[in-house]
Amino acid sequence: MSEGPFETSSQRTELASLGEFGLIERLAAQVELVQPSSKFGIGDDAAVIDPSGLHQVITNDMLVEGVHFDLSYMPLKHLGYKAVVVNLSDVYAMNAEPRQITVALAISSRFPVEAIDELYEGILLACSHYGVDLVGGDTCSSTSGLIISITAIGAAKPEDLVYRNGAKESDLLVVSGDLGGAYMGLQILEREKMVFKETGTQPDLEGNDYILERQLKPEARRDIVELLRKLEVKPTSMIDISDGLASEALHICRASGLGVRIYDEKLPIDPTTYQAARDFDLDPTTCALNGGEDYELLFTIAQSDFEKVKANPSLSIIGHMTNAAQGYVLVDRQGGTHALKAQGWDAFLAKG
Ligand code: ADP
Ligand code: MG
Repeated sequence: MSEGPFETSSQRTELASLGEFGLIERLAAQVELVQPSSKFGIGDDAAVIDPSGLHQVITNDMLVEGVHFDLSYMPLKHLGYKAVVVNLSDVYAMNAEPRQITVALAISSRFPVEAIDELYEGILLACSHYGVDLVGGDTCSSTSGLIISITAIGAAKPEDLVYRNGAKESDLLVVSGDLGGAYMGLQILEREKMVFKETGTQPDLEGNDYILERQLKPEARRDIVELLRKLEVKPTSMIDISDGLASEALHICRASGLGVRIYDEKLPIDPTTYQAARDFDLDPTTCALNGGEDYELLFTIAQSDFEKVKANPSLSIIGHMTNAAQGYVLVDRQGGTHALKAQGWDAFLAKG
């Protein structure tokens, strides 16, 4: 594996010594099924699931080394955990409960068995944390990097499902948690990698635990889906934030045939994120709007639900939906309006 500042070396057992079937057998031995709907897991030609009259939701996300992750600062255990989380996040964004995953891996021979064990440690940790079963997958060799493709399967009553296209004019736009942290975590990791390459200096990550965790060990917002259920609020539309708030808000707008007004001063930004953005000479608002990988939930609710969500510390009301003719608008702290775009926010990018 590549020499990086964040790596620890240990024992090395060649994958070839175990073989594909040996690897699968070892893996299957660690897996325990907890979901009643999982009728058969690893070990036959296909897994068997009983949705018991519910609708099933199915989603897949692929992570490619060098495109989506960099192993010089991403520990394999975290990578496994994150690969599961990004998929579960999509299931929660449908207001459904994730129940099963399958994992397809393309592995190059530079990875020893110990590396695959670490990866699965993260995958299985996420499975147990979210109560999801690993019910199958595929394993093959890769001539270059590592590729992880995960499919998540969830279930919901048909009437509970929330789509992107259900927002109505004058609905409130709400986001969970805070934004821009994962992006700033990535900036710090990239900076420390450069410093290590150029000078051999060990990484200085002090004081940035929160945003590093946002990048390296994100969580899917199961708690928000549960909270909304408890508050008896059913969103009219919902999406998870993988590519950045601006991009996801525009997805809701286009799917629902509406415009949107988002208020800069309402955007939830953690102080650590804010400070890191300043240190990098970036505008915190731009990071919150376009950073990506936050895996928060963005949703719309009817105005009549305002009282139920207004004081909740996990939820921020950041704007409202308008008719399509009013377009996609960002309102700054002075009341000025800007076009909300999916990439960058030119007027503010250069601000010190
Ligand atoms: P087939 O040749 O019929 O596709 P495989 O030999 O690829 O079957 O897989 C055997 C069993 O192991 C199947 O149940 C499959 O879902 C499971 N499996 C294979 N690779 C993985 C993996 N990387 N993670 C989890 N399960 C796997
Ligand atoms: Mg197969």
